[in-house]
Amino acid sequence: MIVSIDNNSGFCFGVTSAIRTAEEELAKGQLFCLGDIVHNGQEVKRLEQLGLETIDYDDLRTLHNVRVLLRAHGEPPSTYHIAHNNGIEIIDATCPVVKKLQERIHKTYIEHRDAQIVIYGKAGHAEVIGLQGQTNNTAIIIENEKDLDKIDFTRDIYLFSQTTKSVEGFRTLIDVIKSRKNGGVFEYHDTICRSVANRVEHLKAFAAEQDLVLFVGGRKSSNAKVLFEHCREANSNTYFIESANEVKEDLSSFNLSPTTKIGICGATSTPQWLMQQVAEALQKLQKQIQKS
Ligand code: SF4
Repeated sequence: MIVSIDNNSGFCFGVTSAIRTAEEELAKGQLFCLGDIVHNGQEVKRLEQLGLETIDYDDLRTLHNVRVLLRAHGEPPSTYHIAHNNGIEIIDATCPVVKKLQERIHKTYIEHRDAQIVIYGKAGHAEVIGLQGQTNNTAIIIENEKDLDKIDFTRDIYLFSQTTKSVEGFRTLIDVIKSRKNGGVFEYHDTICRSVANRVEHLKAFAAEQDLVLFVGGRKSSNAKVLFEHCREANSNTYFIESANEVKEDLSSFNLSPTTKIGICGATSTPQWLMQQVAEALQKLQKQIQKS
């Protein structure tokens, strides 16, 4: 087998920086994290072994005088209020790209009180909750074209996007809104993070060169689901795995030979060490096959 790891896969700078912050702050003492620090169970487990305690909103309300890390996805203003009231020290690891987007949405909300702020994103996703919070939860969330009926097309519309949505989907949405618009302003802002969007073409090219692709990601990660689908489009022999333990299972039905090209890639929430573990598991498997 010829095994290669995609050098463009792995943590984006926002996640890398949040994890570095967590490691630095853990060295100073007890640290809680509001929600999974990254949508990857293996990395969450690794940090929990270092002492990071993952909490939810109910826990946050009951905690006092502790330190809580906010992950790269960002948080709504209500989280900061709870922390302030409970004497909680916030370690803010919100990605600067998300922070800037929150500020833009808030500014638009303040300046255009009668307009509709529309966010193209996944309802209930942590980043979207943080963005919606900038509008006192009045922003309309659009996941797909079906949700467009929530919009009043006769009124002003200011459209933004969750940072990890697809550029293609956003463009389609703009065209549909334009075609249905009936008076009023329509302003749209492409706020998709290029750290994600620029990966797609590279990932597809990488996948197309392989005989088999192992896509490593967390099953809770929406970014992993999207990138996995792109890989599968480029190469139908693409398998989604969460850890090196699943390697054997997926390869059992595949006729492996010394020239089989296996590519390992992942999402923006996939740690490099996890892809490395998958590569090592493949090398182990190869040795077993050679012996048998
Ligand atoms: S995908 Fe982009 S916006 Fe989101 S955390 Fe990573 S760098 Fe920040």
